[in-house]
Amino acid sequence: DKIIEATHVSKWYGSFRALTDVNLTVRKGERIVICGPSGSGKSTLIRCFNRLEANQEGEIRVNGMLLHNKMRNVTEVRKNVGMVFQHFNLFPHMTVLMNCMAGPMWIKGVPEAQAKQTALKYLERVRIPEQANKYPVQLSGGQQQRVAIARSLCMEPAVMLFDEPTSALDPEMVSEVLETMTSLARDGMTMVCVTHEMGFARAVADRIIFMDKGRIVEEANPNDFFTNP
Ligand code: ADP
Ligand code: ADP
Repeated sequence: DKIIEATHVSKWYGSFRALTDVNLTVRKGERIVICGPSGSGKSTLIRCFNRLEANQEGEIRVNGMLLHNKMRNVTEVRKNVGMVFQHFNLFPHMTVLMNCMAGPMWIKGVPEAQAKQTALKYLERVRIPEQANKYPVQLSGGQQQRVAIARSLCMEPAVMLFDEPTSALDPEMVSEVLETMTSLARDGMTMVCVTHEMGFARAVADRIIFMDKGRIVEEANPNDFFTNP
């Protein structure tokens, strides 16, 4: 039931060491929050999980599949690992519906009619089916981020990665995105979230991982963490 298994992962950007001997196992249905100061390697670590970055040392397995450092099986990896970014990264020239259909059609080869059904299902799941025919620019930041979540869900990934999904939002839009993420967590979605939202961490996380200078320096159960001074 291991969805992600990272062992002795190290990564350099040139001569700068961004990750040092990181070990992390994510089991099916687990919700993990990663926190730590800016520049501590949180984003780099989860970007290694979906092969936006490659680690030079150590091994990462997703659903048992070893990720190649030469990125050979990157498409297979991305079918299994969904990712939501700080800046939404929607395709601006496509409608919300097409943004959601694109992955299933072009990466998975799902027929158009079926991709549309899937897209509508997940747009309903994030409660914005009525925005299906709009373009991203016509939506609020919170709505765009929910579309980005729906788009990832359309691939029916084994795990969802969130990289500071609320950091770029206006304050009044943070809660709608956190509510969507909380609802996914309640449904049993396996999630790894880089976030500074401690209320979310407390409500949702099974484990909180602290990173500093490229290392995991502490791991806590949220109950222990929030009750001990
Ligand atoms: P965090 O997500 O914790 O803020 P990051 O993983 O984004 O940290 O970055 C970790 C460190 O690696 C930072 O010092 C950052 O400047 C550096 N870094 C990130 N991406 C690159 C890159 N593409 N090239 C060089 N250095 C990078
Ligand atoms: P975001 O906050 O949206 O994650 P970042 O500012 O952390 O954006 O990084 C944006 C891009 O710049 C990423 O692809 C990251 O790898 C790269 N990057 C971050 N730090 C550095 C750095 N010191 N040198 C080169 N590239 C970097």
